[in-house]
Amino acid sequence: MSDASRAVVLREFHSPLVLERAEVPEPEPGAVVARVSYGGVCGTDIHLHHGHLPMPTPVVLGHEAVGRVWRLGEGVGADLLGAPLREGDWIAWASSIPCGRCYWCLVEGERTLCEQRRVYGINQRFDDWPHLSGGWADFIYLQPGTAIVRLPEGVTPEQVISLGCAGPTVVHGVLHIAEVRFGDVVIVQGSGPVGMAAAMYSRLSGASKVILVGGPQNRLELASELGVADVYVDIFETTDPEERVQRVLGETERGRGADLVIECTGAPDSVVEGMEMTRRNGRYLVLGQYTDRGAVPINPHVITRKQLTVLGSWAFAEAHHVEYIQSLPHLSRWFDLPRLLTPYPLEDANRALADVEAGRVMKAVLATG
Ligand SMILES: [Zn+2]
Ligand SMILES: [Zn+2]
Repeated sequence: MSDASRAVVLREFHSPLVLERAEVPEPEPGAVVARVSYGGVCGTDIHLHHGHLPMPTPVVLGHEAVGRVWRLGEGVGADLLGAPLREGDWIAWASSIPCGRCYWCLVEGERTLCEQRRVYGINQRFDDWPHLSGGWADFIYLQPGTAIVRLPEGVTPEQVISLGCAGPTVVHGVLHIAEVRFGDVVIVQGSGPVGMAAAMYSRLSGASKVILVGGPQNRLELASELGVADVYVDIFETTDPEERVQRVLGETERGRGADLVIECTGAPDSVVEGMEMTRRNGRYLVLGQYTDRGAVPINPHVITRKQLTVLGSWAFAEAHHVEYIQSLPHLSRWFDLPRLLTPYPLEDANRALADVEAGRVMKAVLATG
């Protein structure tokens, strides 16, 4: 007899998510069925729910998750790094499968830019086989080609899900594209999971000072308890953007601005402000604008006059996910990652989504037990 799985399904934008049931398929050769322990709720899920990103429906949401091997398909004996895989092993997986054949995959070597990427929890329809293609469920079907990593000794599932997709997103953008240099003064705009991760990785990469600009206060307090930054600036306290820029510049040497400013807000306005916080000849990374929230007026003279390097970074590829998992023992020595988490039962997915949208929690996760 086959197993059944509950799954949180997005049927219509703006409407409440629905808890449904589906049969757990047997894995085809090369596939793995995982028993999900935690499915993370990401800011992107809010935007998906509002229909801000083109996607099909119905879809089982959840592009970040961690769990254990339930069934191994024929021919799957090891993870991406060669570690043997057995039923019951703790695993994590990259959220997307690039096609591996297109111009972007092969010529540019930028697998995140692949236009045929299959993404769990975003573009795999619930009414198409194998149905269970999202992390907000008891089980997920990991298609052949999924980059699966067995959790290293000592790494807990709570650590893995604590930053969710923000972890590998920051590995890609901050470590590989913006490349924090030893001694850099870094400003991070935004204090959600992406901002937290950006501050943590900057600090461990040798930043001499990290200034976190964000809010609301509960998030900054948690950030401060974890010690991710040196200075915390509450955007709800200093609400005037110009005043805020001056306040932040005052924290940099001779008011010159930061060597690197990392945008992790998702709010288009913050890009204008962030460029003002960057020093002349500095780098500005736009990392948080994953969904399209419209245009803002930008004065391009600022880029020329300050000789700015403006960078973008889109999502993450398999290698960044592996690097995130492998960095967890080190990251965990410095930061108590599971403190970021607020667990909810699967049937409370709508409440979890609302709490994330209101900024009431840092990192909501659906715990399936
Ligand atoms: Zn995400
Ligand atoms: Zn491709």
